[in-house]
Amino acid sequence: MNAPTPAELVLLDLGIDSPADIDLEAIAWTLGARVRYRPLDSCEARIIGKDDQAIITINCRSSSRRQRFSLAHELGHWRYHRNRILVCRSDEIGRAGEGQTLTERTADNYAADLLMPWYLFRPMVRTYAKINFRNIRVIADAFDTSITSTAIRLVDSGQFPTMLVSHGPQGRRWFTRAHDVPQRWFPRAELDSESFAFGILFGSSADDHMPRKIGADAWFDRRDADQFEIQEQTVRVANDEILTLLLITEPRMLEDWESRSSNSRRPR
Ligand SMILES: [Zn+2]
Repeated sequence: MNAPTPAELVLLDLGIDSPADIDLEAIAWTLGARVRYRPLDSCEARIIGKDDQAIITINCRSSSRRQRFSLAHELGHWRYHRNRILVCRSDEIGRAGEGQTLTERTADNYAADLLMPWYLFRPMVRTYAKINFRNIRVIADAFDTSITSTAIRLVDSGQFPTMLVSHGPQGRRWFTRAHDVPQRWFPRAELDSESFAFGILFGSSADDHMPRKIGADAWFDRRDADQFEIQEQTVRVANDEILTLLLITEPRMLEDWESRSSNSRRPR
């Protein structure tokens, strides 16, 4: 097992041994940060910190799980970017996509570790033989986190050979893949009209209840893609955003004849 991250150490020091005990406001207080909730127009959250004290302001108009991720994100800034005033826009927290700065990525990673620490997250994920959005919702409810941040964490866990891709009407916004999925599987920028996701984003199709089989060439623009089938499940997460889970079921797709990477262009 890997050494605990700084955020996990905070939780372990507090003796937290279940997701329901992750009381973020209490944690903020122990770290010297006061939290206020206000309507914010130009940003999602901000932090003003000096010496050992910080004031974090969270947009009270956002959903409660969004507020929770934003607070954890600001605590990440408090850990790594002390004595700075940082104003975080909605597209910089959790869903910044391919242009996310290192500062914002660092805060997001801290947030994920604080809300879904590996020492609690992995044991829960291991109880599932298969992954789909129904299971992701159960895990998200346990950790009080969004579908998007929970799905990203699940892909990062490496427990299943999966990819997660976000699309809006303008095309792909970001994606991430498990470490055992080779880099050659790079999702198309534009949704293929053959994909089930296309009907959900542009048509009136309802969310997929379960993953469905589809030709891999609907998702990957490679010459050999038409030799494979994958599984696809798409859900709408916002008016202008859908999230697709791609399950790689054929072992040949996972053969490593290039270097692998855990990487991604993504959000939270
Ligand atoms: Zn930020």
